[in-house]
Amino acid sequence: MSALHEVKRAIVDVCRKIDAREYVGGRDGNVSVLASNGTIVVTPAGIRKGDVTADDLLVVDRRGAVLQGRGGPSTETLMHLRIYDLRSDVRAVVHAHPPVATGFAAAGVEMNECILPEVIVGLGRVPITRYATPGTPELSSSLDPLIAEHDAYLLANHGVVTVGADVVSAHHRLETVEQAARILLVARLLGGANPLGPREVRELIEGRSRYGVREGLAGCELPEAGAEREDTEAAGPSAPPSTRAAEDELVERIVGQVLERLRG
Ligand SMILES: [Zn+2]
Repeated sequence: MSALHEVKRAIVDVCRKIDAREYVGGRDGNVSVLASNGTIVVTPAGIRKGDVTADDLLVVDRRGAVLQGRGGPSTETLMHLRIYDLRSDVRAVVHAHPPVATGFAAAGVEMNECILPEVIVGLGRVPITRYATPGTPELSSSLDPLIAEHDAYLLANHGVVTVGADVVSAHHRLETVEQAARILLVARLLGGANPLGPREVRELIEGRSRYGVREGLAGCELPEAGAEREDTEAAGPSAPPSTRAAEDELVERIVGQVLERLRG
């Protein structure tokens, strides 16, 4: 079996999953992989992701010229090419319109606060791009300021883009973004999420290096109140040592569980 055949099979698998989870409607969404031979395998324009087969996928060069396949590549191929140009470590890009995260993108609400461990560790933050018309070069360049430090972005009034070293990890990040958006939405309905403080965030960030999360990934945005909380702790913890030890153990356990999920 050729490497290209394996790549196509993996893309079809991801297309089926994003369709099954209703992360796309109609012909929305696109997936690509930078293959080991330097070509890019990308989903075609105009086909439902749930109906895509390996034979439908196109192979394009780094400038988007079709090398193999019928019909046209995804209208967002330019955006995928731009990401590969700016991030040599990225080998896969997934774009979809998962409804809750896309709701955040439409409402202009970034997912940047330090709230959920799996986001803090694996994504840092999920910012929103400036709006650009889908399928245009402007959409591609709207990502430029975010590409280096982020592995997931919300496209303003449009959808979500995630990247990875392979299509499975890019897809997992898409699932993490949508799941986090659902949780944050519920927290908002219940009166607002409680952000973690600097000490908890620091422990989560320290866990990144132990489990191979890339350096250079942005961190979450710490709230002002959190900084004050750390100052208080530095001056003399109000909680007894046994409580502090229990908190440390809890944070350590959460870090372990989160990183285990990221590796899986
Ligand atoms: Zn789209």
